[in-house]
Order: sequence, then structure tokens, then C-alpha cells
Amino acid sequence: MANAEFGTVFFDEMTFATYDGEKWSETSFVPSDKLPLHPATHVLHYASTCFEGMKAFRAADGKINIFRLDDHVKRMQNSARCLHLPVPDTEQLKAMIIDILAKHRDEVPAFPGSAYIRPTLIGTDQSIGRAAAPTRTAMLYVLISPVGDYFPADAKMRVLLDTEHQRCAPHFGSVKSGGNYASALGLILSAKEKYNTAQVIFAPGGDVQETGAANCLLINDNEVLTKPLSSEFLPGITRDSLLQVAAKLGYKVTERNIQATELIEWIKTGEVALSGTAAVLAPIGEIVYEGETHHVKQGGEPVNAKRLRKYLNDVQQGLEEDSFGWIT
Ligand code: PMP
Repeated sequence: MANAEFGTVFFDEMTFATYDGEKWSETSFVPSDKLPLHPATHVLHYASTCFEGMKAFRAADGKINIFRLDDHVKRMQNSARCLHLPVPDTEQLKAMIIDILAKHRDEVPAFPGSAYIRPTLIGTDQSIGRAAAPTRTAMLYVLISPVGDYFPADAKMRVLLDTEHQRCAPHFGSVKSGGNYASALGLILSAKEKYNTAQVIFAPGGDVQETGAANCLLINDNEVLTKPLSSEFLPGITRDSLLQVAAKLGYKVTERNIQATELIEWIKTGEVALSGTAAVLAPIGEIVYEGETHHVKQGGEPVNAKRLRKYLNDVQQGLEEDSFGWIT
């Protein structure tokens, strides 16, 4: 696992349930290395799919801490509703996550590693005729990948600030669905080729939204600033957690729209970092904007981002009291 690419190694089993058009089946444990699908399966043609990404940590006392389970289940249910997929039952999905982790608890890596949890919902009608109709049947499974640290706390990323493109269709940004990632991929790859950037901050018309797989937080010694939630981008659970942590640590928390020009001005003295389950809070070191490279904080240390990240990591590992009620 230590040297494997993030998300390529899995527990050998997963929890699994199906929806037959009327009700969910009982949950079963099945091998995690194959899924029998007819070539006409709805998801393969019409992208009737959504997923979640959350983590479980091995705490100092040996317990397994699942971070913000209820919120991830709610977000998945919201994605399912938007896609007109059968909505997973709250208690069943929670049990599917807890039960697979409990059975394989010895395989949850120690910090900074964790078990990355990937509940996945797919439309399984065997029909290529239902292009403009929802699937009636579905499969739900919970795949677990033991992972290491995605971005070390001191990595400083180079990103493109793109004021031309939007990550995905604006009414669909808050849905965690594969099509949104497909929509952003070409833009991220061409930025990498042209500017040697690791990510793109999508800021259509100058409105700073998010990157391909994380939200965007502006941070200085006193304040944390980010865009208010909208249908245009994913309501990150790490974003929400960090805003609550920041308020607790005495930062002023502001949610308002941010213009690309303001971001470039901000980074003369302030920090900017990407928040997400995998990234936690990854500081940006350089922003390419209108063909020029801007160095965040003139190359200074992202001390505030590191402080917020450490506090969140400590809650996740049980080193800091769970005063927010985030751990299952
Ligand atoms: N935006 C996008 C597009 C993402 O893929 C993610 C990662 N799930 C996030 C934001 C951050 O969300 P979260 O903090 O819930 O992981």
C-alpha cells in the first residue's frame, strides 16, 4: 500500500445492495474485484451514477474514526435525487459503511494513512432506450481503499486560474457524479501541458469557484474567505469543517463571491489552499494568471493553512476533542 498510487488498492470485499424498482435488498458482502454488468447497463451509457468520498482514521486509542459519516450520506442522497437515481436508505448506507470497516478494521492504516471510503450508486436498467428516462434499478456498494497522504502538508502546488471555463454544467456542480469530472479533465490536462500546473481553479467570468477535485479557501492571519454554497460547485465537507475550525480558532469566517483579480491581490500577503477529503488543506504556492506566474505570499510559509490542517487532522485522529460531533 505504501507505494501504491492513491485509490488503486482495495479491501478484498465490499458491502453491496441492489434496488429492484421497488425496494432495496438486504446488504451482503461480495468480492470487490468484479461487477457483473450487461453491456447495455444504463450507467454505462447515460452516466446514471454518483459517489461519495470520505475517510476513516485509526485513532490513537485504536478505535476507527469515520469522519462526518452522516453528512456524506446526506450529500450522496442529494446527488441521487438530482440524478433521479433510487435514493439509498440512510440507515442501510450507514451500516454498509460501518460494517465493512468493522470487519476489516485491522486493514485501516495508521495516520497519515487512512481508509478512503467510496460508496457508489449506479443505474442498472439493461436499456439503451432510456436516454431521457431514469433507471428503475440500481446497485449500491461501498468500496474501501487504504491510502497514504495525498498531498503532504508542505507541498506547494502550482495551479492555473482559468477565468474562461466552468468545471461543469452550472446547475450540476453540487452533484458528486462522474460526468462532472469528465467535463473538467481535458481543461486540467491542457493546463498541465501548457503551464505545468497540477490543478485548475475554475473562475468563469472571474468568479472563483473550485478546482477539479477540491474547494478553494483564502486565508490570512485573521480571516478565512470562500465562495458561498451554490449549485455551481461541490459543497465540500472539508470546506465546511475548516470554516467551523477557523471560527473556533478565532478567525473571521466570510462567505462571499471572490473575483480572480481579488485573489491575485490577496496572495501578495495572504494564503490560498485547496480543501477536500483527499487533499485535507493543500497550500497553493504559485498561480498562473493571464500567462504570468504569481508567487503566493512571495514564497512565504502557509502558516495559517498548516495550523487549520493540523487542528482538523487532530480531531480526525482523536488527539483533539470532537467538540463538533463529527466522529462515528
Ligand atoms: N470539489 C470537488 C469537485 C471535489 O471533487 C471535492 C472532493 N470530494 C471537493 C470539492 C471537496 O469535497 P470534500 O471536502 O467533501 O471532500
